[in-house]
Formats: sequence, C-alpha cells, structure tokens
Amino acid sequence: MHYTNKYGIPQEVVSAIVRDPYYHDGRISVTALIGPPRIHQLRKRYVDEIVEDVSERLFALYGQIAHGILERADDFDAIHEERLSMQVDGWKVTGATDLYKHHGNGEYLLRDYKFTSVYVSNFALKPEWIAQVNFYALLWRQHGFSVHRAQIVAVYRDWRRMEAERKAGYPPPVQLFNVPLWSREKALQQIEERVSLHRMAEGLPDEQLPLCTQEEQWRRGEKWACMKKGRKTAVRLYHTLDEAEEAAAGVKGGYVQHRPAEAVRCKYFCSVSPFCSQFQLESA
Ligand code: SF4
Repeated sequence: MHYTNKYGIPQEVVSAIVRDPYYHDGRISVTALIGPPRIHQLRKRYVDEIVEDVSERLFALYGQIAHGILERADDFDAIHEERLSMQVDGWKVTGATDLYKHHGNGEYLLRDYKFTSVYVSNFALKPEWIAQVNFYALLWRQHGFSVHRAQIVAVYRDWRRMEAERKAGYPPPVQLFNVPLWSREKALQQIEERVSLHRMAEGLPDEQLPLCTQEEQWRRGEKWACMKKGRKTAVRLYHTLDEAEEAAAGVKGGYVQHRPAEAVRCKYFCSVSPFCSQFQLESA
C-alpha cells in the first residue's frame, strides 16, 4: 500500500494512520467477512500497488481514537476490545468486540460502536451491521459466554446542534439501536455461507470475482428525467419512473431518460477501483 498526502496532513498524524494491512490465507476478520469478496480479494492481490490518500483513512483513525477513549470509561466490569476467533470450515474467523458486560438479572450485553454519519439515521440498520454484531455474539457463545442482548451505538461525527434545534426527527448525537439477535444455528449457517463465498472468490481470476451489489457499491440518487425532443437538458428530474412517464405524456415530444444511481463507493471510497473490472465496465 502506498500513501499520498494531498492535504499536507502533519507527519505525526500521517504516521498514526499509515499501517500496512495484514493479509493471511485461511484467516479473515469479521469486518472483511461481511464485506464484498471482490474488495477483499483485490486488496489482497494488489496490496503493493494500491495508492490511497491518508485523508481517506481519517475516519478510521477517529474511530480508533474514540475506541481508546471508551476504554477509559469508569466501567470496570465491562470487557473492551476483546479479540476472539473460531474455526469455520478450516478458516480462522477473528473479531474484536467493543464492549461485553453484565447487564443485570444474569443477562449479558454486547455493544458495537459505529462512528458514522447522521445520514444513516434515516434508514433501517444496515444488514451487514446486523450480521457483524451477530457474528461477534457467535464468537462469544463459541467461547462459552452468553449473549442476551446486542446493541449498536451510533456516534454521529457530523452531528450539528443547529440542525437538531431546527429539524424535527433529527437524531441525538449518540444513538442506541437494538440489534435482533439470531439463534446460534442461524449465526453459524450465515457465517459458513460468508466463509464459503470468500473462499470461492479466492480461487477466481479478477474478472470473475462475484460482483458487488448495488447496496455494496453505495449507489445513490437514481432519477428519471422527463426530456423533450430537440432539448439537451431535462425538463425535470423525478424519483420514480411513473412520475417521469406521466410528466413526459404531458410534454409535446416528451420522453423519459433513465439516470442511473451513482456508485458512490466505487467512485470516491474504494481503493481497489483502479483494479476492478466491474467498475471499469460500469463507468465506461
Ligand atoms: S470499485 Fe466498486 S464494484 Fe469494484 S470492488 Fe470497489 S465497490 Fe466493488
């Protein structure tokens, strides 16, 4: 991995950010396991050629700083950042849980902290977050510990007090979400499926790697344009095809043009995009 420093970030911050990723055949973290196999494989294969600007790693650094602060909390019964592992079909799956603690009445609670954008509060919990927390719960259970409840604590890094005062429904700066806990059997079945998917990807050439889904590409902003013959720009953009068709029917020479959603992750946040045949094809 090679780093650039486009924004002149001070050297001590850069050196805190720059760490060579560590890949090892037959071992995978829960975070990589829930992610797209295409990204995981391309990162492994092109680790010596990937160029990333240190600014793109800043959010990860904020997360690590905040995790350090949480460890200072006066919560002596809690276990923080415990890394556990288990064997799944010959692969070692590892995962570090942010917090595990006794919750009262003999119940045990697991929490995962996410340093994220207020934007995510508009939607249901991401399926990959639910899987991640359930895989952590499975790791604890496989080591003989009970897990009765699981929660995600979203800490909004872009929370604004003025927005909170102005907008109804704006979330608090730190928000707690209960995560539905899977049975041990379901978690085992799901983790085996993810390992099998990643294992299968390992043996495939780049261009045959499983395609990233629209959700994994963070596609946003799909629109339908009401167009008019002889005019280059849209008369108006719509969120649904029905709305655009209705509008086009009322315009002389009107027709509808699809504007695909932008693959935000591919375009701005994926360090392997220069090596990704899917991205090259879709953006050609
Ligand atoms: S560039 Fe897009 S499609 Fe390719 S690996 Fe990254 S997220 Fe997936």
